[in-house]
Amino acid sequence: MADIELRNLTKLFGKLAAVDDIDLDVEAGEVMCLLGPSGCGKTTTLRLIGGLEQETAGDIFIAGKRVNKLRASQRDIAMVFQFYALYPSLTVAENLAFPLHAEKLSKAEIAQRVAHIADVLELSHALNRVPGRLAEGEKQRVAVGRAIIRDPQCFLFDEPLSRLDVALRQEMRGQIKQLLGDLHKATVIVTHDQIEALTIGDRIAVMRDGVIEQVASPHNIFAQPANVFVAGFIGTPQMNLLPARGIAADGARLRTRLLDQEVTLPIEHRGADLPRADATMTVGIRPRGFNLATEAGPDTLAGTVDLVEPMGAETLMHLRVGEADVRVVTGYRKAIAVGRHLRVRPRAGQVHIFDDTGQRVEP
Ligand code: ATP
Repeated sequence: MADIELRNLTKLFGKLAAVDDIDLDVEAGEVMCLLGPSGCGKTTTLRLIGGLEQETAGDIFIAGKRVNKLRASQRDIAMVFQFYALYPSLTVAENLAFPLHAEKLSKAEIAQRVAHIADVLELSHALNRVPGRLAEGEKQRVAVGRAIIRDPQCFLFDEPLSRLDVALRQEMRGQIKQLLGDLHKATVIVTHDQIEALTIGDRIAVMRDGVIEQVASPHNIFAQPANVFVAGFIGTPQMNLLPARGIAADGARLRTRLLDQEVTLPIEHRGADLPRADATMTVGIRPRGFNLATEAGPDTLAGTVDLVEPMGAETLMHLRVGEADVRVVTGYRKAIAVGRHLRVRPRAGQVHIFDDTGQRVEP
C-alpha cells in the first residue's frame, strides 16, 4: 500500500481543470517530484494532498486512510513552501525546536529530536550559536531542519530551493536527497527545475495541462520518454523531434524519409511494433545521440552548420536540414565552422520512435 494515493483526483477552477483526473502512488520512503511547465497543476496537486484546496472529484488516501474530509492540520503532513528565514535572536537549537512547541512534547523529547536532526544535518557543533554566526550553508541547513523536525506521515515541498542562489542550490540538492533518504517518508516535491527533479526524485511525475504524462525513475524518464511532450521537456539541449515517414523496417533498421532525406535508422524495435511502413511518425534523437560522419552513407543525415555554441567541454552545433534546425552536440575539438556541410549518423540505442499520435513505440 502506498503512503500517498491519489485516485481520479480532479480540481476545477471554474471551467479550468487545473488537475484533471490524475492517479498517483507515492510509496513510504519514496521521493516523488512533480515536474512540468508553469500552470500545469503541480502546486494545485500538492495543495490538494495537503488539504489546502478542496478537490472537485476523486479520492486522496494517506497511509491507507481517506483524508478528503480532513482539515490540513488533521492529515499528519508537513508542508514546506520554502525554507524560511531564521529567528536571528534564537540559537540554532531554539530555531530547530520552534515548530515542536505546538506539539506538546516533553522537554526531553524536544531535546532528543533537536539532537537527532542536528546530527543528520551536521549542525551539532553549532547548536548554541545564533544565525548571525553561521556560514550561509549552515543557515540553510538549519532552515531545512526546522522544516522537517516534526515527525509526520509525509512531507510536501513546494519549490523549496527556488529562492537560493545557484551555488547554494547545487550544494543543497545533494544534501536534501541524502536527508530525505534518511527520513524514510513519502515525500512530494514540486519543481519546475528538471535538474532538481532528476537529482532528488526517486521517481518523477511529468505534468502538462492538469494531466500526468508519465511517472518513471529519472533514468527511465530520460531514456524512455513516453511521448513527444516528455521527450522534448526532459533533457538539455532539447531532444530533436523530427517528422518522418516510414519506408521499410526490419529488426534492426528502419528506412525512413526523414526531413526529406532518405535515412536508415538503427533501431531495436521488432517490426510488428513499428508504425506501418508508410506511416508518419516522429523520430527523436538527443543532440548527443549522433556521431559525425566522415563520408556519405544511407545511415547519415546531411545539413549545413548554421550556428555554433561553445558550451565548455562540448559544443552545440545547429545544423540546417531543409527548414529544420537539428541540434548536435560534439566534443569541442570536433566543432565545425559555420557554413560547412556536415553529415551526422544517429547512434544505435539513441533513436526514439513516436507514432502519429505522439506516443512512444516501445522496443
Ligand atoms: P507554477 O509552476 O507556475 O506554480 P503550477 O504547475 O504549480 O504552476 P498551478 O499553480 O497548480 O500550476 O495552477 C494550475 C492552473 O490552475 C493554472 O492555470 C492556474 O492559473 C490555475 N489556478 C491555480 N489556482 C487557482 C485559483 N485559486 N483560482 C483560479 N485558478 C487557479
